[in-house]
Amino acid sequence: MRGALRKWAPSYFPLTSHLLPLTSYLLPSELALDILLMGPPGAGKGTQGAILAQRLGLPKFATGDLLRDAVKQGTPLGRKAKAVMEAGHLVSDDIILGVVREELAKPNAAKGVVFDGVVRTVPQAEGVDRILADQGRALDAVLFFDVTDAELLARLEKRRSIESRPDDDPKAVANRLLAYREQTAPVLAWYEDRGVVRHIPAIGSVDEVAERVRHALNHA
Ligand code: AMP
Repeated sequence: MRGALRKWAPSYFPLTSHLLPLTSYLLPSELALDILLMGPPGAGKGTQGAILAQRLGLPKFATGDLLRDAVKQGTPLGRKAKAVMEAGHLVSDDIILGVVREELAKPNAAKGVVFDGVVRTVPQAEGVDRILADQGRALDAVLFFDVTDAELLARLEKRRSIESRPDDDPKAVANRLLAYREQTAPVLAWYEDRGVVRHIPAIGSVDEVAERVRHALNHA
């Protein structure tokens, strides 16, 4: 078993392992803590990712934020991604894995990263695994944010009225949900097979969900 279980050493803590925070399981040679957030658009990954990253003192890495920034600044990456993003489709795996590799090469990523919406296809999941493995790392946990479709649509509609993101218009939202169902949902099964997924019911207040995240990570 990889990821969480690779880094955990329950044999060192046979009686109390379930009570110890995730960070307690890290062996001295494996100090990075890599947590990946998954869930449909509007599930609250961004909000919870920011809270978690601050609590753990780790950088949060969201491909969506990075790409939006690139579009705003008109960089070559932004020019490639703009139309695809605005239509609510997925940017190519090659582009995404290129930015992940760059991000993980940065010194501030050496102690681990909170990945927010970074993996949306099975090839991306395989690629991120490889990139982490090149650094002797593996995902410690995948947090999956569970939300009903009705709640998602209500949240995206509300966000549209506040942030006016071009990809929150109804046609783009429909494409994003379709991309999620067809390409991203199978990634969950891929991670489930590796035993690293923890489900977070993502309905309730921001504080309530943050508390569930904390518990899911054994109070980390
Ligand atoms: P987000 O802010 O995470 O909802 O991402 C906004 C948009 O950026 C998505 O609808 C995609 O067009 C693009 N994007 C972000 N992350 C990825 C990814 N890992 N793979 C493909 N496209 C992505």
